[in-house]
Amino acid sequence: MLTREEMHRLLVARGQEQEELFSESRRIRNEQFGATVVLRGVIELTNVCRVNCDYCPMRRDNVRENDTFFLTADQIVSIAEVIRDSGIDVILLQGGETPSVLPILENAIPRIRQLYDDRVEVLLNVGNLKRAQYERLHALGATSYILKHETSDQDLHLMIRHETLDSRLRHLRDLQEVGFKIGTGLISSLPGQSLDSIVDDIELAGEIGADMCSVSPFIPAPNTPMSLEPIGDNELALNVIALLRLNFPHLLIPSVSALERVGGGGQSRGLDAGANVMTVNFSGAGDQKRYLIYGKDRFVVTLGHVRDLVESSGLELRGSVFIEQESTSTGVAR
Ligand code: SF4
Repeated sequence: MLTREEMHRLLVARGQEQEELFSESRRIRNEQFGATVVLRGVIELTNVCRVNCDYCPMRRDNVRENDTFFLTADQIVSIAEVIRDSGIDVILLQGGETPSVLPILENAIPRIRQLYDDRVEVLLNVGNLKRAQYERLHALGATSYILKHETSDQDLHLMIRHETLDSRLRHLRDLQEVGFKIGTGLISSLPGQSLDSIVDDIELAGEIGADMCSVSPFIPAPNTPMSLEPIGDNELALNVIALLRLNFPHLLIPSVSALERVGGGGQSRGLDAGANVMTVNFSGAGDQKRYLIYGKDRFVVTLGHVRDLVESSGLELRGSVFIEQESTSTGVAR
């Protein structure tokens, strides 16, 4: 584990020092996972959300004016079939935080498992729910869950998410106790965020025993209270990826599409910095436009884009790490 002083220095590394940092984080990734990238297929379930994050166009205050949608369970299962036929065994079901998605998920998850004869990782990213609901989703076959802490600065968290950091962390603990593999994530370059608080974010991923952690540079999205704030710094986000890898070699770290929004070639740099996950978007074209995560002109990641990028980075695509670990621990051959 690097000291806080070392992390401070490396977060601002540029030029030769940054390249040396990336080279070390790639070495650690390749030692841990081989030179591979886990491929996920994402289905966006709904753009309705009851939370009011100041940086997000799907925030509660915008719901009335947004063109809202909910996928049906049938639609989700038929997209999952396309993902399966593309050779991807991690299905990420993602949407705004609303209890209305629960019956849809409860219907879709067992059918997705059936499609794959149970050889699938069903990964959820649908916000805070009740513990009994986590238990139900886990019993139905969801195996991993992303609940990003976004920022570990308690005051900043409350100010921009209007919810407490403590409640987010309590939910992460609940998920872990229920048996989920857990993912967290942070936004870097948030207005008002210090480098010291980013060091806290990195340490937090270790303290909570996260299996996955993402890093997204801040994107000022239209129709939000933060629309006029300056766009985040890609280089800082990349250095956070590298430091997460150095400190916690086992982490699944995605190279997110927001890196591409801030600078062309950003996702390729994410892999250079030690990331080892990429997510392909399988939502229908109409729903992609309505899922306003970074505004209407967000960068939508296709399978072709991922294949080109992974190949040009000298890496290979692979399936779920968690399915493989499960097989090894139960002695079932892949
Ligand atoms: S960031 Fe997530 S929780 Fe916050 S408003 Fe947007 S969809 Fe809802």
